[in-house]
Amino acid sequence: MPQSHRPPEAVLREALEANGQRFTEQRAAVYRFLSSTDKHPTADEVFLAVRSQVPVISLATVYKSLETLVGCGLAMKLNYGDGSARYDGRTDPHHHARCLECSRIFDVAGDLPSDEISELKEGTEGFHVTGYRLELTGYCTRCQPVEPAEA
Ligand code: ZN
Ligand code: MN
Repeated sequence: MPQSHRPPEAVLREALEANGQRFTEQRAAVYRFLSSTDKHPTADEVFLAVRSQVPVISLATVYKSLETLVGCGLAMKLNYGDGSARYDGRTDPHHHARCLECSRIFDVAGDLPSDEISELKEGTEGFHVTGYRLELTGYCTRCQPVEPAEA
């Protein structure tokens, strides 16, 4: 589903109200930044970016704002085994490719054929499947090992 073309602030207000949350300037700044980037930032990176616009904001507030956005369906949280989390302002279905060297995350378009998903579901023995996430891993253009030069 494509994201709304309404002003981000109207989208945010509506989603917060629908979830019994207040609109605050801090939450708005976090949401604006997250909607404007495709870099899947960590909470620290959001904090550094937003601090220049909202000087009184703390890392704790940024973290809580991000979690509120996730709870309202306005952002996705991508968890990794090393305990790090990244946030994605894009909530339409898409997949990711993660660089094993620099940890950057790239959006990947496209879907698997639904019969392949059905086949996977059949192997889950009663597990109630509500969705799936696909992550490609490898090396981004910056991090690909340099091929040895021809002699
Ligand atoms: Zn990389
Ligand atoms: Mn993404």
